[in-house]
Amino acid sequence: MIQRFHSAVLLMLAAMLIAASASAQDKQQDKLKAVATISIIGDLVKSVGGDRVEVTTLVGPNSDAHVFSPTPSDAKTLGAAKAVFINGMGLEGWITRLVAAAGTKATPVVVSAGIKPRQAEEGGHHAVDPHAWQSVANVKIYVANIRNGLKKADPAGAAVYDANAKVYLDKLDELEREVRDTIQKIPADRRKIITTHDAFGYFGQAYGVQFIAPLGVSAESQPSARDVAKIIGQVKRQKIPAVFMENISDPRMMQQIARETGAKIGGTLYSDALSDAGGPAATYLDMMRSNVRELAKVLAP
Ligand code: ZN
Repeated sequence: MIQRFHSAVLLMLAAMLIAASASAQDKQQDKLKAVATISIIGDLVKSVGGDRVEVTTLVGPNSDAHVFSPTPSDAKTLGAAKAVFINGMGLEGWITRLVAAAGTKATPVVVSAGIKPRQAEEGGHHAVDPHAWQSVANVKIYVANIRNGLKKADPAGAAVYDANAKVYLDKLDELEREVRDTIQKIPADRRKIITTHDAFGYFGQAYGVQFIAPLGVSAESQPSARDVAKIIGQVKRQKIPAVFMENISDPRMMQQIARETGAKIGGTLYSDALSDAGGPAATYLDMMRSNVRELAKVLAP
């Protein structure tokens, strides 16, 4: 009798478990599959997409999008995506070939569309600076483009995407105020620093900080001894107070510049990628707060 009761209960439990896992699987499959090229954009797509979207990022935390080489598994991920979000402005030189290899039907959404590109100099000629996310005002445009892209890929979720985008845009307003307040407390003549590559031009334009970098906007080339000597001269002449590391770059060149000029070594700035989930820059909002905190720590009197 007890035996029979047991097996009945077990059968019932088994049936319930199967039903539960099937419905969890349905939920997973119902989610809109989205791909973002870089971790910063992936975080924005998550914020706007919420529970309706499953986001995969191709270039992971602390990784360099400029020198990324996609694998066959990236092509597979892209092939399964219903929505694809890229930065554009020449950041992802590898994306066109990857889209072709993946045979994806999703047209990539260029999240920087509508932003006035900053012109930079690279190896003696002009280049477009792709690091537009370093200005919060630009990221508001990113969020609008992501919202519109999600609505197009999943019209049934339109109201959810509108609501999530609105909540996130309010957070960006608050972030922007914080960034301005903190930078304003640094005396104007101390607002100049060295970073490895030219990734903070939009930040500099928006908030009034001068960034000097031995490497250009694409971070691809190796600086020559002459480039480094030139920077060392500039640091001394302009009394630049500090050099900062970047999470995606080799720190040795910056350490050398600090040694030879007596400039302070600042902390790590997050330029092109977020930190790991446990790090100080796991989301875009945290990344900007962490960068501004590190700048203020070294530059504020
Ligand atoms: Zn970069």
